[in-house]
Amino acid sequence: MRDGLLISAMGTCKSYRTLLTEIIRKDVISYLDFIDQVYHEKIQIDPDIAEIKYKLKNHRTEKIENIITEISTLEQLEQTVSVCTKCALHKTRKNVVFGKGSDKEKLVIIGEAPGAEEDETGEPFVGKAGQLLTKMLSAIDINRDDIYICNVLKCRPPGNRDPLADEIAMCSNYLDLQLEFLKPKYILALGRIAAMRLLGKQSTMKEFREGEHNYRGIPVHVTYHPSALLRNPNWKYPAWEDLKRLKELLDGKNG
Ligand code: SF4
Repeated sequence: MRDGLLISAMGTCKSYRTLLTEIIRKDVISYLDFIDQVYHEKIQIDPDIAEIKYKLKNHRTEKIENIITEISTLEQLEQTVSVCTKCALHKTRKNVVFGKGSDKEKLVIIGEAPGAEEDETGEPFVGKAGQLLTKMLSAIDINRDDIYICNVLKCRPPGNRDPLADEIAMCSNYLDLQLEFLKPKYILALGRIAAMRLLGKQSTMKEFREGEHNYRGIPVHVTYHPSALLRNPNWKYPAWEDLKRLKELLDGKNG
């Protein structure tokens, strides 16, 4: 009964209805953009919506620029993300996992999303997969404290399910801004989802691993996610080869 009254009151409030419509349109358009960009599936929309899409894209660009001018440090961005409620994952998370590390090696490693241990502690890659990553890095003489590690999503998807397209779309600006502040010389993407998000295209892991890619001019290397290596030990050798190639480039660039 109370809900019925509330809906009825909302229905008579034109400005609220307009606002609600805009929010829903914006979410739908953001989702369509993501599907187009990452999965290369064009969904036909009528010309009226295309016009709205154009306006909202400009609005979104302005909004991102506003955020950039308001947030001038990585710490300020972390503060903003720590209270984010943009997608439904905020309801089930225990902690936001923003990212951690230093810019000493000018390398940023990007995974998919926090798992259970990361959600508990608020730190990236601290579970079994994280321990494996630390060992792999140390095998090529990279100290974990000298690099920066984060994820595409800052909150854990329940039950460690794959991130949904709209969750990735909602969280995207944060990763872009994070990389703006970090200004890495190299990026290592762990797994296909991180690679698709950064490179805006769909490929096989083989194509991602063997191809040359860049994100806004920064070279991007792709290898298997450590969780996948725990499930498929046969991929450890190719992952090791990937890391050795990356290390050679890091030494050449930073030495
Ligand atoms: S996953 Fe990203 S967009 Fe969603 S609530 Fe967390 S920080 Fe916000």
